[in-house]
Amino acid sequence: MVNQPITYSLLRWPTLGALDLTGRTIESIEAYGKHVLMHFDQGDTLRTHLRMEGAWYVEHAAPGGQPDRTGRARSWQARAVLANQQWVAIGWRLGMADWLRRRDLPRLLGHLGPDVMAENFNAKQAGQRLTAQGQRQIGAVLLDQTVVAGIGTIYMAESLFHHRVRPDRPACQVPNPAGLLDFAASILKRSVQAKGPTATGLTTAGQITLVHGRARQPCRVCGTPIEVMSVGQAPFDRPAYYCPVCQPS
Ligand SMILES: [Zn+2]
Repeated sequence: MVNQPITYSLLRWPTLGALDLTGRTIESIEAYGKHVLMHFDQGDTLRTHLRMEGAWYVEHAAPGGQPDRTGRARSWQARAVLANQQWVAIGWRLGMADWLRRRDLPRLLGHLGPDVMAENFNAKQAGQRLTAQGQRQIGAVLLDQTVVAGIGTIYMAESLFHHRVRPDRPACQVPNPAGLLDFAASILKRSVQAKGPTATGLTTAGQITLVHGRARQPCRVCGTPIEVMSVGQAPFDRPAYYCPVCQPS
């Protein structure tokens, strides 16, 4: 999508409907947690946020640098469609979209913790940020994007299972927090290279997680039924799946 003029632009977003990006050029794209930042020429940035269900799809463009007339880009769920002569990027079910000056980004993103997917991610320092959360439940802390950015409910649960830590253990009592974050980063990185989301490396239906989404099904290690608890304070509480035997405390 980078360094080719935009040939088609559609933003189905209340505050951005009048914005026409045709003729503009994306200079670079980066992800920060679930924010996707498309840096345009002239110092502007299109920031979108994926929340729980959002995604960006990239497809081949139809002749003339247009989106396919029958495909995904036609759906009302395509909240942003940007094409160049080769490619169409489709922002699907986005949770947030805004048009910003790039110089304002540090102020707007400054509240996020270090991104576990970033190349310069320092697991030791980030692990200290986890420990500093004290009595807060580790499951909620891993999801708190102001502590570390980029971990959602699936990878929180899978990382704690691998680490044999119950989701409600106080953050300050979790052994080797740097190792926990290293593992989370490694399965996230493997997942983005795979055909679909996966915490196990497998993409077959029913095989993509060891505990997440598997309540009452047998643990793949010990056979005990998987349980689910709630972590965090309402309305931000989230489900955390775990094995009561493999993760005793
Ligand atoms: Zn188990």
